[in-house]
Amino acid sequence: MMQIDGQCHCGRIRYRAEVDPEQVGICHCTDCQALTGTAFRVTVRVPRDRLSIEGETRIYVKSGDSGRRRFQHFCPDCGSHLFVHGEGEDADRWGIRWGGINQRQALTPRRQIWRRSAPAWVCAFDEAPAKAEE
Ligand SMILES: [Zn+2]
Ligand SMILES: [Zn+2]
Repeated sequence: MMQIDGQCHCGRIRYRAEVDPEQVGICHCTDCQALTGTAFRVTVRVPRDRLSIEGETRIYVKSGDSGRRRFQHFCPDCGSHLFVHGEGEDADRWGIRWGGINQRQALTPRRQIWRRSAPAWVCAFDEAPAKAEE
């Protein structure tokens, strides 16, 4: 288990959690692409009782094709994506969005889902010319 902490970009929402580094995954689904504006989303799964949150998030409720609702938490000021959870038996199964976690460099994805929606370049862009900074 690993202790982590994190925050949204503006700092209004802060959190701490105890996570299993094996529970890091990538989602390539089209909802994640639309919600993030980018190619895929990285999330760390965590039981609700291992996560403590300071500050009040806003929630966008997404209904999947299956009809199940997913509660997407974001910062009301800066819009950073922070958490997700389901309902019913999934209500206590939360996910923390990777990008706000201070220890994220130590959290490597262990699985990918919805790979069929991924763009062809998603594992090939390391060949594009790169600069260390902007
Ligand atoms: Zn914020
Ligand atoms: Zn997704």
